[in-house]
Amino acid sequence: MKKVGFFRSVHLKFVLIYVLLILVAMQIIGVYFIDRLEKRLVANFKESLEEKVNLLAYNVEEEMIKPREVKDNRLEDDIRSVLSDFSSNDVSEVRIIDNRSRIIGTSDPDKQGYVGKRTTEDSIKKTLGLGTEISKVSLDRQTKNRVWVLSKPIKSKNETIGAIYLVAKIENVYVQLREINNIFMTGTAIALVVTAGLGILLAQTITRPMSDMRKQALAMAKGNFSRKVKVYGDDEIGQLAITFNNLTKKLQDATSTTEGERKKLSSVLAYMTDGVIATNRKGRVILINEPAAQLLNVSRETVLSMPIVSLLGLESDYSFEDLLSQQDSLILDFSTSEEHYVLRANFSVIQKETGFVNGLITVLHDITEQEKIDYERREFVANVSHELRTPLTTMRSYLEALADGAWKDESIAPNFLTVTQNETERMIRLVNDLLQLSKMDSKDYRLKKDWVNFSNFFNHIIDRFEIGKEGHITFKRDIPKKAIFVDIDEDKITQVLYNTISNAMKYSPEGGQLTFRLKELDGFIEVSIQDEGVGIPKDKLEKIFERFYRVDKARTRNLGGTGLGLAIAKEMVLAHGGNIWATSKEGKGTTIFFTLPYDRDQEDEWL
Ligand code: ADP
Repeated sequence: MKKVGFFRSVHLKFVLIYVLLILVAMQIIGVYFIDRLEKRLVANFKESLEEKVNLLAYNVEEEMIKPREVKDNRLEDDIRSVLSDFSSNDVSEVRIIDNRSRIIGTSDPDKQGYVGKRTTEDSIKKTLGLGTEISKVSLDRQTKNRVWVLSKPIKSKNETIGAIYLVAKIENVYVQLREINNIFMTGTAIALVVTAGLGILLAQTITRPMSDMRKQALAMAKGNFSRKVKVYGDDEIGQLAITFNNLTKKLQDATSTTEGERKKLSSVLAYMTDGVIATNRKGRVILINEPAAQLLNVSRETVLSMPIVSLLGLESDYSFEDLLSQQDSLILDFSTSEEHYVLRANFSVIQKETGFVNGLITVLHDITEQEKIDYERREFVANVSHELRTPLTTMRSYLEALADGAWKDESIAPNFLTVTQNETERMIRLVNDLLQLSKMDSKDYRLKKDWVNFSNFFNHIIDRFEIGKEGHITFKRDIPKKAIFVDIDEDKITQVLYNTISNAMKYSPEGGQLTFRLKELDGFIEVSIQDEGVGIPKDKLEKIFERFYRVDKARTRNLGGTGLGLAIAKEMVLAHGGNIWATSKEGKGTTIFFTLPYDRDQEDEWL
């Protein structure tokens, strides 16, 4: 926030308001007061003079109506003596005029020459003519001062016998007024200075807490809640400061709660195994957790504010609005020709109570493994049904033929019965193999382990095969003479060896050689059975351990295989903690290897 300059501050506004208030008040008072004062002073001035003029008028009238001898007692002289009694500082001249407009006396010693002459003043003529008093304020042409001119009729028995003409220095009143005005102005100026000073002080008491609060609010905006506003008093501003401090405390609590919630949420999101993506109401990503970024193989920073539909690769089929109304989960298939990769996305809309959509939460699960398991299960069921159907249909056709009368024909009936017997055995083998597998798949499957001298054990099994072999196949053994004791489930490993050796024999050509090896390695023993048979293409080497997998379907079925032999062997070896694999050269032969854990120290102890 920018700093508040002095000219825009509350401080200056306060002082200005104060000064303006005083100025306006003084002006109003001044105008009213001066006006009233002027009227009062002028009225007083006139009243005091009028009293004197009235007295003078009475004296003059006395003199004028007094019977007199023309010679010795002249009216002008008497008037002069009356006028000499009339004295006032405010009067510049008083003239007495008779009813024929002749000046019969003046108070001005310089104007004694006018006595006996006719007057030219209009106001006197009017007064004499109409018998009314005329009063006016006019400007003296010589002195440029205001004068009050009064012409008053002198009446005797309702008859105007003359007039008094008075010129008074009313300017004195105005001079006085000006002086008062000056005093008033000075007073106003002093009052303004004092109030301005007071205003500054007063403004400070208001603005100081306010600027404190402003500073605190700025600090709060930056996340600093440690400051407190000083409380200067118990007035409204003090209360405001207290409330402000309370507010700070509450805000601090709220912020720490929010912060805590945020941390909780982010750690929940981070430690979740599911991917979570949140968008704003325009469908742009605002939050994505690490698992989601990993599932989508993107970096979290680059996808922020990216539209969710393009992040999920749905832009060609769905709009953001479609996702908002998407009730079911969507399957996102990112599989390539090399790798199977499927995600499931569930959507939930963030909505206010009013129904206003705030955004969308997307939860991603990796369902590749599940899909694979589902696929394998379906495949397994299809394979089992297929494997069972083949012998069953064969048997049905042979049995039908027998039932149709072939049983009577001695030349074919035994043959037909042999075929059905073989097929039945094959089915029994298949069902047994399946039972084996399902036993091993079950959770409570346990090996019955025993310490077995593997060299002897291996030799025994090879002996059994050697005795029962048909045709010309030579056996070669590369087995150490010494006892090698391993902890194994004898039955299970017998089965492994049986399955692999019988395969080797099945696929060996006439005159081929089987080589049996046993190697003692570091931590394990390695068993291998090598033949010189058809071999297995390189890309199928892994697959032969899968259930029902056969390299050459037609041929192996004729050899009586179920396609489960190596799968069972693999399960068993893995259950022992070993490994099984094959190497092969097409046309030259195959070698099946398997390992079993072997601890020489433990063996010594046991011995
Ligand atoms: P099967 O009972 O059909 O032999 P297995 O699981 O034992 O089933 O073997 C799977 C497939 O692996 C066989 O069908 C065969 O095609 C191939 N295979 C196994 N062992 C050998 C081998 N020694 N030489 C050539 N192919 C083999």
